[in-house]
Amino acid sequence: MELKPNQVRLMMIQVADAIIAAEAMLSQADRDLGDGDHGLGMKRGMEAVKVQLEPLEPSSVEQVFVTTGTAMMSSMGGASGALFGTVYRAGGKALAGRDVLDSEGLALLLEAALDGVMKRGGAKPGDKTMIDALAPAAAKSREVTALDLPDALTAVAAAAESGKDASKAMIAQFGRAKTLGEACIGFPDAGACSVTIMLSTMRDYVLG
Ligand code: ADP
Ligand code: MG
Repeated sequence: MELKPNQVRLMMIQVADAIIAAEAMLSQADRDLGDGDHGLGMKRGMEAVKVQLEPLEPSSVEQVFVTTGTAMMSSMGGASGALFGTVYRAGGKALAGRDVLDSEGLALLLEAALDGVMKRGGAKPGDKTMIDALAPAAAKSREVTALDLPDALTAVAAAAESGKDASKAMIAQFGRAKTLGEACIGFPDAGACSVTIMLSTMRDYVLG
């Protein structure tokens, strides 16, 4: 299976709707560890994404992801706007020149997203951030490039979910949660929850 630019656009609108619907859950996750604004920030970002994507007639898959990242970056503000914006802008740019999104493109997207966010934010795996869902997802995507896109995304979404669950045991090294020390054990990172929702919604889109 290969997704054409317009199918990627529809998939990302579905991702935006899923994040907006998860606002309360994401804010609660952030409340357990941080300041409780993650759901609201992501909702604001995803509403801006929908404003850009709904009328778009995309000419490339790169354009859909870069448009998504730019909308998040310019509407959310703060660290997470820059970081989630980077996920999609850096990821999208790695797809330049590719006509469709397939399993190889998924790996290029996630590897560049991970690289971009690690350079931008300075966090690494184990620091209890979105990277703890994104890094295992990116690694899995490279392992499964020979699978068809629905199977690849099923494996990648499961890897993100496992990473998000593993973040419960971690002690935060970034953001407000850093001041909690061991008190953050038992709670998953909010940004890792967002990454998991995004990838499982992409999986659901390609599974139809
Ligand atoms: P804020 O931290 O400004 O309140 P949000 O609550 O929207 O922003 O987002 C918090 C999420 O951002 C965290 O759960 C974490 O996943 C992610 N995050 C914070 N700092 C970093 C970083 N340096 N690198 C990667 N992700 C980060
Ligand atoms: Mg917050």
